Amino acid sequence: MTEITPFYQKNIECLSCKNSFRTTKIRSRFIKLRCHETDFRPVYQDEKINPLLYNVNVCPACGFSFTDDFNRYIVPAIKTEIQEKLSAQWTEQNFGGNRSTLEAINTYKLAILSGTLKREKSVTMAGLYLRTAWLYRSIENEEQENRFMTLAMNTYTTAYTNEDFTGMGMSETKILYLIAELQLRLQKYREAASYFSKVLSKQKNSLEPRIVEMARDRWQEMREDYRKAT
Ligand SMILES: [Zn+2]
Repeated sequence: MTEITPFYQKNIECLSCKNSFRTTKIRSRFIKLRCHETDFRPVYQDEKINPLLYNVNVCPACGFSFTDDFNRYIVPAIKTEIQEKLSAQWTEQNFGGNRSTLEAINTYKLAILSGTLKREKSVTMAGLYLRTAWLYRSIENEEQENRFMTLAMNTYTTAYTNEDFTGMGMSETKILYLIAELQLRLQKYREAASYFSKVLSKQKNSLEPRIVEMARDRWQEMREDYRKAT
């Protein structure tokens, strides 16, 4: 009898070159969540059984890298650009097996490059930046974590300003909260206060009272920290 492991191989078709390849995913029943941090980063009981490590599909043939959030269609002119700027420089590498945190970070960077060339929606790009920041946090690289949190915060702000975040599992309350929370983590207190107050001003109409409550708690904590520091 073969033992069922948390990992399995999934068949994926590359959105760019249409090559078929296999990549590791985690069976959902093995995923044990311990908690979420205040910026929604999921923390798992076993850090190896972490679906964040396996979000990005990397085509071994052409290098194009993507997640399930990517729009599946690529305009032909952009496909040519991807071939010239990414695939022509790609030497065959396979990220289909088990991944270390650093390997997973590399897959996110490839997805960021691919998504930028493909002109993916801002909210999708912001999600890639945020997850890269989370992975750097898990290995305690604060400098890179802050760099990617800044990219995520700026890109979520663009998505919010352009109202380009609907239908991506992101509500107005959640995106405003996330912008505020990232600003707070980056010690931009004035901006954080402004965005937390936007979340609180929407509390009557919000369908997400839990997020409004989180915003109230975080704002309170921020004020206490600020009072202690002055
Ligand atoms: Zn490909």
